[in-house]
Order: sequence, then structure tokens, then C-alpha cells
Amino acid sequence: MIEKSFNRIIVDTAALENNFRYIQDAAGPDVPVMAMVKADGYGHGMIGAANAFAKAGCGCFGVAEIHEGILLRERGIAGDIYITTGFGNEDVELFYQYNLIPVIYSIEAAQALSAHGVSIGKRIGIHVKVDTGMSRLGIFPDDLNPFLDKVASLQGVRVTGLMSHFPEADIPGTDSTITAISRFEAACKDVKSRLGGVCHIANSGAVINFPDARFDMVRAGIALYGYHPAGREYKVRPEARRLLPAMSFHSKVLQVKELEAGAGVSYGHTYIADRPIKLAVLPVGYNSGYSRGLSNKGEVIIRGKCASVCGRVCMNICMVDVTDIEGVQAGDDVVLMGAQGGSVIDADDIAEKVGSISYEVLCMLGNNNLREYQVG
Ligand SMILES: *Cc1c(COP(=O)(O)O)cnc(C)c1O
Repeated sequence: MIEKSFNRIIVDTAALENNFRYIQDAAGPDVPVMAMVKADGYGHGMIGAANAFAKAGCGCFGVAEIHEGILLRERGIAGDIYITTGFGNEDVELFYQYNLIPVIYSIEAAQALSAHGVSIGKRIGIHVKVDTGMSRLGIFPDDLNPFLDKVASLQGVRVTGLMSHFPEADIPGTDSTITAISRFEAACKDVKSRLGGVCHIANSGAVINFPDARFDMVRAGIALYGYHPAGREYKVRPEARRLLPAMSFHSKVLQVKELEAGAGVSYGHTYIADRPIKLAVLPVGYNSGYSRGLSNKGEVIIRGKCASVCGRVCMNICMVDVTDIEGVQAGDDVVLMGAQGGSVIDADDIAEKVGSISYEVLCMLGNNNLREYQVG
């Protein structure tokens, strides 16, 4: 495949570094920040993002599955790498081979890891996931002590940490977060009195909103990519103002055409020109992660001005109204996300229009287009 397209994601590595430093400052000098680089670095490219964070001082990375951790190692990423969403027992040797840290939530996983460790004369450090109210992966705090008893009898593994996850730490003062912190605190006491170890529960929201939640390490994702987890409304607050969105999405105008009043635009003719209008046709559609939900809703920037999407977004094409923008012609630069000439569209703006969150917009755009890295 030829790596060329009208559509380009540009990732600003200086913004990624800036965001890492900001979150590290917020966490404090004694609390390491695990950079979450799953989902191909929230669409920014896992390796490119991890390298930028490493350059800013990051020595700890988190991904969902083993194959991601292996790729990080193969591309030369040093430091600790955590695999946070489980693994098949047939893959346990990979943790030893690639020096990855497993997070477990079942005794079977601990047994499988231990059996391999014993067979090669090694003992691997594992983190245990507890469910403090997210009702997602993890064992309940009440089951922790019996669980640790069982693990203690395994010669090939050692518990070196405890982790959990918050359901709504992005909103300051949430009761569920306060409850989860106290449950986690109690669970950590149990582990530390027996084994020591590193306790971590904070995501971006908790780093920003809940200083009590930092424990021994924090795990930041969305903030490192420049967004507040709770969206636009919170982004303007002083604690989040230093976050810089790192991703922008660019394309070109394919064709410009004049329509008469009454002309219908795109599939289903959901847009009918109510006056003579000028349309720009763009080579961007839902195949590029530009959601069909942006039909008759999206905005793009051309010549520094905003233009609205007319009609349905197609698979590889959409149309925008450039009637009021002087001089638009084929080949003009289009910014679908990012800034140009004083106009700005960010992932929160797009997310709001389609009833989603910045996280999803970044994954959809970032993981469906060619990426380039630039500084600044
Ligand atoms: C993705 C992820 C995070 C980061 O969450 P953000 O809201 O993006 O900061 C933290 N912990 C775990 C286990 C995750 O999967």
C-alpha cells in the first residue's frame, strides 16, 4: 500500500511532552505517572506517543493487551510496562520473555504465571486488580485476603502491587470516588501489611480532582493527549488550562461547485439548498473516522473560517457549505480538527455533536488515518 492520502493526522510531540510534564507536576515528584498508551496511544500512535512521554521523563507505560506490550519492547521502549486487561494462560511465558508486568484478577492466572516461573527458576512480580465500585475487571475487596493467601503459596509469583479504577473521578467531589478511595485505602493496607507494593487507582480525572487518590503511582491517559476527561466544560478551568491537544486532522478540498436553490445534497437529500450556495467537496467520510453522526452537524475550517457539513457524511466524502468564504478552490487546506486562522475545532467539539467523548473521537480519527509527527 502506498502511504499517501489527502487525509493526515498530525501529532504535535511537543504537546505530548508538555502534557506529561504537567501531569507529573500535578502528581508530585514522588509519584510516578504511568502513561496509558493503549488503543494505539488513544489514536496518536502508541510508539510515537510513548517516545514523546519517555523524552519528557516517563518510565512507566500501560496497555490493554500483551501484544501491545511486546510491540513497545520491540520498538525499544524501556521502563515498566503493565498489561491491564488480562491475558490467556497460554501467553504467560511472554511476560517473562519481554519483561512485562501482569495485572491479574483470577487465581488461575496467578497459577499459570507461577508454573512457568518455577519451570525457568524465576519469580515474577504481579499486580492484583480490585473492584472498588466500577463493576468492571477485578476481585472484590472482601475477597482480597483469601486471594492473597492463595497467591502466597505460589513459588513463581510475588504480589508487588494493587490497582483499581474509578467510575467518575472526572467530576470533582463525586461520592462514588470518595467511596472507592476509602475502599482502596483499606485494601492497600491489607496488602502493604503483608507484602509492601505499589498501589495505584488514579486516572486523569483523579489526578486533577482528587489529590487523596494518588497513592504510590497514577495512571494518566486522556490528559496526556491534551483533554480534560469530563470534556469542554471543565477544560477551561485553571487546573486543566495547561493541557494542549496534540492531535489535528487535515485534508484538502477536492472540488468546489455552485448549487441552485432547491438542489438536494448527498444520500437521501437530507439537505436542500434554500438559496444558491457554494459547496466544497472533501475526501473525508466515516471510513476516516469522521462519524456519519456529523451529517448536517459537523464543521470544518477552510481559509481560517468555519464551514458546516451539508447533507449526509458518506463513506469517503462529505460536502461543506463555503458560500460565505471568499475564494475557496480545489486544493485548499481543510482542518477538520485543529486550529487555523483563529478558528479552532477540538475533539470535545466533535464529540458533543455526535453524543460521544473526546476519547472516542481521538481513537476514530487517529486510528483510521495516516499519522505524521511534528514538533509544535
Ligand atoms: C485507560 C485507562 C486509564 C486512563 O484513563 P484516563 O481517563 O484516560 O486518564 C487508567 N487506568 C486504566 C486501567 C485504563 O485502562
